[in-house]
Amino acid sequence: MIIEPRVRGFICTTAHPDGCAKNIREQIAYVLRQGPLPEGPKRIAVVGCSTGYGLASRIVATFAGGAETIGVSLERAPTATRTGSAGWYNNRAFEIEAQKIGRSPLTLEGDAFSDEMKKTFIDNVRERFGQLDMLVYSLASPVRTDPDTGQTHRSAIKPLGAPVGIKTLNTETGEVFETTIAPASEDEAAATVAVMGGADWKRWIDQLADAGVLAPGFRTLNYTYIGSELTWPIYWNGTLGRAKVDLDRKAEQIRQRLGEDAARVVALKAVVTQASSAIPVVPLYGTVLFKVMKPLGLHEGCIEQIDRLFRTRLGADAEVDEEKRLRVDDWELSPEVQAEVSRRWPLLTTETLGELADLAEYRSQFLRLFGFGIDGVDYARDVDPRIVD
Ligand code: NAD
Repeated sequence: MIIEPRVRGFICTTAHPDGCAKNIREQIAYVLRQGPLPEGPKRIAVVGCSTGYGLASRIVATFAGGAETIGVSLERAPTATRTGSAGWYNNRAFEIEAQKIGRSPLTLEGDAFSDEMKKTFIDNVRERFGQLDMLVYSLASPVRTDPDTGQTHRSAIKPLGAPVGIKTLNTETGEVFETTIAPASEDEAAATVAVMGGADWKRWIDQLADAGVLAPGFRTLNYTYIGSELTWPIYWNGTLGRAKVDLDRKAEQIRQRLGEDAARVVALKAVVTQASSAIPVVPLYGTVLFKVMKPLGLHEGCIEQIDRLFRTRLGADAEVDEEKRLRVDDWELSPEVQAEVSRRWPLLTTETLGELADLAEYRSQFLRLFGFGIDGVDYARDVDPRIVD
């Protein structure tokens, strides 16, 4: 079939196998250009491995660090007439490329929140590695069923306390408009913490530790976004921020159990991913950020951020902030970048968007997540959506 993008708001319901594979190869090429990382951990798990920051983590660990990896993600497999999820294609393409350099990656596809998945994972770690050196937790999901209660929680991306008036962008039409978002109820806030907070991360680590599969010196990373005063009203001061504060709390509990260096929350920059495109304000903020950071030579996507994390932030002497987090959002939050983004913000309208922001770059990055708009891919080719090569 001929596969074309089918975009509905902040979701694309199709994905291109050749485009996703090319995307993976481009990320690998970037990492190889930065050179090897011989000192890194060698047995690494990535929960949320198929897209965005988790995928970049798996690529850096494998192609710079030479690690063997186990990935976990939730995917839709393709059929003869329907494309799979982008993550499904990414997983297959990653496996093909990793095998070419002699690695034997394993990917488990299913619900990482469930205890069944954790059990299958532990059995596989025992069989393949004996023990794990690192677990990167990079899961982003709007819904989680708590294995203890059987209750399914749904997150709500809302402010807390009072309504918030914000400027936002319809990325399909290019329209910039003001909108008011009503505050979350206490139940919605609690549900968001149950889904996006640290409960499942800690559950993973506790179950792995109880099973005796954590190597001496084991470390775990979990990714967070802090942002600046432009995004705080909807992000850090809202339900999502409350969930991210819970990560910091859980990191401390993991450190108390496993040691002072065992758990780190890592603050990363705003990038275009499936998860971030669903958050109000973030796409508009992102379009301005690209326009400001690019000419300064500071523009980074997932692979550049994670490569910098692994090369410069994981040493024994790495600096941490007051919450003991590692910070790779330093360029985004630099006074120079933030002053320019803040200067442009009040001037942003549908008419000025073209001059002050980079919507074309945003759209191109969004389509790339699904394997579209990538140089060198023949989109007119009749492809079998079940095959990645
Ligand atoms: P993403 O949507 O690209 O990736 C999410 C991953 O989680 C995918 O691999 C998906 O398959 C997996 N997943 C979702 N539900 C699952 C389930 N039930 N079981 C197993 N796997 C499941 O998201 P992302 O933007 O890379 O986010 C990853 C982390 O990085 C999040 O904690 C996010 O807050 C953080 N972060 C993102 C940004 C950003 O701008 N995108 C910035 C800073 C930090």
